[in-house]
Formats: sequence, structure tokens, C-alpha cells
Amino acid sequence: DVSLTGVSKTFGEMTAVQNLDLDVPQGEFLSMLGPSGSGKTTVLRMIAGFEEATSGSIRIGGEDLTRMPPHQRPVNTVFQDYALFPHLTIAENVAYGLRVRGQSKTDREAAVASAIAQVKLGHVASRLPHQLSGGQRQRIALARALILRPRVLLLDEPLGALDKQLREEMQIELKSIQRDVGITFIFVTHDQEEALTLSDRVAVFNNGRIEQIGTAREVYEYPQTEFVARFLGLSN
Ligand code: ATP
Repeated sequence: DVSLTGVSKTFGEMTAVQNLDLDVPQGEFLSMLGPSGSGKTTVLRMIAGFEEATSGSIRIGGEDLTRMPPHQRPVNTVFQDYALFPHLTIAENVAYGLRVRGQSKTDREAAVASAIAQVKLGHVASRLPHQLSGGQRQRIALARALILRPRVLLLDEPLGALDKQLREEMQIELKSIQRDVGITFIFVTHDQEEALTLSDRVAVFNNGRIEQIGTAREVYEYPQTEFVARFLGLSN
């Protein structure tokens, strides 16, 4: 579904991503792990269109997106800091993307109600973001991304700001939402356990390359390089 071929990204002298090939089938939950600076976020940003690849091609559903502007891509992103509009109510935040697309008010209201219900927050629809807990804000950010029915959802440390217990609850919820909607999730996390529980496959990054990609079990039980063995061992 998502297909990167020979993708590189350089910032001046610095190579952030090196000749990367990556295929993510439709509906897969893929996690990207790796040390800080290994290129994970840059890969997400290129798929989203926030960064242009220096070379190589990016396709989704067979369509070449390499030069397509972000808002036209069948992709949406959820960030760690939620990025909700502070002066808009929860319902207005969730409706925002539909409004930009010019959908009628009646259609919007029905879609918003169902998206907010999906993340179990119907009762807070008229509140402002600061009146919600961190976990609730993150669920709203998810609803706001899902309402646009992207083919692919990119998640950059979406649970990074939450405490441990909330984080575990949200992991379960995220997985169940992903199963329900059946879209492709590409997930960046620093938490190995999180990657292990959530993902169909895990890609371990090092220096702008993928050292190993496979099911969590394959990667943990049969690390193919010294780096992968050390990386997974060290931070356990
Ligand atoms: P982290 O886990 O800390 O988020 P990461 O694996 O996501 O790291 P990237 O953020 O993709 O890594 O960064 C890869 C490399 O590219 C880093 O060395 C970073 O400093 C560099 N880089 C990223 N964005 C830019 C930019 N806009 N300008 C210059 N260098 C950048």
C-alpha cells in the first residue's frame, strides 16, 4: 500500500535517510524504532509531504505522491503534542478538516458525532481542549485525523506525553481502533514494549537505514545484526 523506493533525504551535508526501500501492506500496523537521529521522523514527514525526498519515489495505493502537496495526500498525521486548536471546541476541532474540504454542516455534524463516539468522548464535545486530560486530548487528535478517512495514518510518538497507566490504556484503544477502521498505521515510538505489543511488523532504524524489519518476534528473537541485538538489549 505504501511503497518507498530508493528514498534519500539530505539536509546540507547531513544524510538523514539513505536509499531506503520500504513496503507497507494495506492495513498493517508498522512501528519504527531506532536511536534518536536515525531518520524515523524524517521518513514520516516525507510520507506526509512535509519534507520533500532528495531522491527516490513514494507511492501510496500505486499512486506516485513524490511531488504531491501534503493536503492532497491520502494520509494524515497525529503528533505527540496533539496540535489541537485551543480556541475551538472539541467538536469544532474534529470538524475542522471536513470544513476545509467544504462539506455541508449537516454532513459534518453526523460525521463528527460518530468520530467522537468512536473514541468514547461524546460527552466532552462542547468543551475546549484545555478542559480535557492528556489522554482525552490524544483521543480527540486521533478522531480528528480519522474523520478524514485517510488511507494511511502516521503517528509520531502519539502516546509520548502520557503517563504509564494511561499510555497502556491508550495502546489497547489504538490497536482496537486500527482493527476497526482497517487502515495502515505507521508509528514512531521510543518505547520498545509499545512497538512489540502494537505492531504487525517493526522496522529498526540506524543511521538513516533500516537495519532489520520483521515481526516483533523475528526482530527480538533473531536479530540479524549486532546493532539490532545491542539496541534491543540495551534499552530493555
Ligand atoms: P528522534 O527519535 O530523536 O525523533 P529520528 O530517528 O526521528 O530521531 P530524525 O528526526 O528523522 O531522527 O532526524 C534524522 C537526522 O536528520 C538527524 O541527525 C537530524 O538532526 C537531521 N534533521 C532532521 N530534520 C532536519 C532539518 N529540518 N534540518 C537539518 N537536519 C535535520
